[in-house]
Amino acid sequence: MSTSQPTIAIVGAGIGGLAVSACLRKRGIETTIYEQAPAFARIGAGIQMSPNAMRVLYGIGVGEFIRRTAFEPPHWRNRDYDTGNLTNDHPLGPDAFDRYGVPYILMHRGDLHAALHGAVPEETICYAHTLVGIDQNDSGVTLSFENGEAVKYDAVIASDGVHSPVRDWMLGAEDAHFTGRLAYRTAFPASQMNGYKLMDDSAKWWGPDRHIVIYYVTRNRDEIYFTTSQPEPDFQVESWSATGDVNELRDAFSEFHDDVRSVLGACQAVHKWAIFERDPLPTWNDGNVTLMGDACHPMTPYMAQGAANALEDAVVLSRCLEGGGLEDIPSAFQRFEAARKPRTTKVQATSHKNEFMREKTDPDWVYGYDAWSVELPSP
Ligand SMILES: Cc1cc2nc3c(=O)[nH]c(=O)nc-3n(C[C@H](O)[C@H](O)[C@H](O)COP(=O)(O)OP(=O)(O)OC[C@H]3O[C@@H](n4cnc5c(N)ncnc54)[C@H](O)[C@@H]3O)c2cc1C
Repeated sequence: MSTSQPTIAIVGAGIGGLAVSACLRKRGIETTIYEQAPAFARIGAGIQMSPNAMRVLYGIGVGEFIRRTAFEPPHWRNRDYDTGNLTNDHPLGPDAFDRYGVPYILMHRGDLHAALHGAVPEETICYAHTLVGIDQNDSGVTLSFENGEAVKYDAVIASDGVHSPVRDWMLGAEDAHFTGRLAYRTAFPASQMNGYKLMDDSAKWWGPDRHIVIYYVTRNRDEIYFTTSQPEPDFQVESWSATGDVNELRDAFSEFHDDVRSVLGACQAVHKWAIFERDPLPTWNDGNVTLMGDACHPMTPYMAQGAANALEDAVVLSRCLEGGGLEDIPSAFQRFEAARKPRTTKVQATSHKNEFMREKTDPDWVYGYDAWSVELPSP
């Protein structure tokens, strides 16, 4: 290896890709990101940033920026779908801050993405670059794009999401499992509720074979978000922009409590997203190429931990690469996998069960994780 720093490309400028670029920059390691989208858009979705995720965002330097406009809920409530009976009223707000040292935040996904984008120099992101080929040999890793360009790097980090083409190259093409379920979701102005006062600032309503999560995504409670999960075996499109039928959605939740029906009655349009997951992979890396985030541990959204775990990956990966890590990148990537896989496997399995927080739960093992200081395996 030459004495100059190895070159590193990142595939995918989603939550994980932007975060790992920002974390590596903090350690003086520059990267170039290749993203298929021609530009970023603020798509209607909320996201929960639990303390383990917020700890990453504070370390990157965007935590306070996010906290200024996002919603810091006083509680996370869990209710039976029809009676509204409270099964778990979990305190957040100051309780979460006192316990974990950072807040629990509910926010617009687009605002999270924008905050992370702000931590990465614009000139290091190459838009409209859809990866179609990857080849590794002794002299480096070549990435080929749909637009005809080809580039060569010493190492590649693939944060290219649940349908990762880099995963397919590494392990052979194999579809992620469709769970037979789908998530409807949208964010809309709270003024559309026409004065209806919800019981909760944030709640999950648990039905026999479906649920809905409803929360505010702005500090001044002027934007409401919901996301559902219900059986629908025939729809398998996973896209943030596929639209759903509001009336079908209302019918699917017609047995739910007034609060739920009021929210669904007030929303005017909705997106739908097929829910996929994967079993833990046999490996996350091959030589100088590693996977991270949904590319290697996609999970159901039921614990709200997919992005949080991509953020944790970003920190741990940057810690493995700093210092001596750059001198032996394959070992650094193996160390990253060894450090992270036990946790992501446990979160995947827990999320799959969809029971987290339904009844009184101690979430410390999830929220208490500190990616900046967690002990790493020896190099
Ligand atoms: C309905 C729903 C609600 C959720 N709510 C939460 C929540 O509250 N909290 C939470 O922590 N997580 C949540 N998640 C999970 C979270 O959205 C994902 O886990 C997270 O986005 C994963 O980050 P990532 O960087 O791995 O992938 P992504 O954010 O999906 O980014 C992948 C990027 O790669 C790009 N890409 C893909 N293919 C190519 C290619 N061939 N060439 C170039 N670029 C490519 C994509 O355009 C994209 O920008 C939710 C998910 C769903 C479906």
